[in-house]
Amino acid sequence: MRKIYCIANWKMYKTAREATDYIEHLLPLIEDFKENIYLSVPYTSIAAASSFAKKTKIVIGAQNMNDAKEGAFTGEIAGLMLKEAGAYFVIIGHSERRSLFGETDEFIHKKVIRALQDDIQPILCVGETLEERNSGTMKKVLQRQISIALSNVPKSSSDKLILAYEPVWSIGTGKTATPKIIDEAHAFCREVISELFGKKGANGISIVYGGSVKVENVSEIMKGENVDGVLVGGASLDVREFAKIVHKCKK
Ligand code: PEP
Repeated sequence: MRKIYCIANWKMYKTAREATDYIEHLLPLIEDFKENIYLSVPYTSIAAASSFAKKTKIVIGAQNMNDAKEGAFTGEIAGLMLKEAGAYFVIIGHSERRSLFGETDEFIHKKVIRALQDDIQPILCVGETLEERNSGTMKKVLQRQISIALSNVPKSSSDKLILAYEPVWSIGTGKTATPKIIDEAHAFCREVISELFGKKGANGISIVYGGSVKVENVSEIMKGENVDGVLVGGASLDVREFAKIVHKCKK
């Protein structure tokens, strides 16, 4: 049985105080929920959020990191800094990082390796643009993104990875991929992962879906055999909304 994850990505929203207020409100709403709840918060909220969420079922992580251990990289942040601040995981290769900040597959690969070295769980995001889907190159794109990002990742580390399939055309647009499209893409991602880690390794890796997930569509999405959770952007900003999604994020 693969682990199920309900992951919030707050993007560049919420100060440290807003983060702890949110967690305070979220905790009583998710008391009886058994799966993994991850909040990806801005850097400046990590320390406050992780100390507030200590000894609760909420796990705090970051939305990005640099590939270097340390160095003269003004404005960047290292994995070890995130870890010390209380981050357990980090999102790597989000489409906003790829498209707005020019992150390449090779750079993303280096970040995955660094995160594993620094003992931070990487959530690797992959996904095709609308153009790529319409031109029939979706599989080629996913294959390239996954195989470059995960090359040289030791098989023994495969259980630490989470993969997020996030079609770019669906992120922040309100256009959710259909449950069929999602499940097929996840099955394909698993095939690619099995070329790297073998069938057994691939079967253990959770693949979550992200792209305009909301209360209304999460149950349908979760029905997919290969769907092991969701990554929620916009709809995670409202604590009540997110709590409702959390409750539907189950098998
Ligand atoms: C995201 O930021 O990863 C995301 C899926 O955003 P949204 O849910 O707003 O589409």
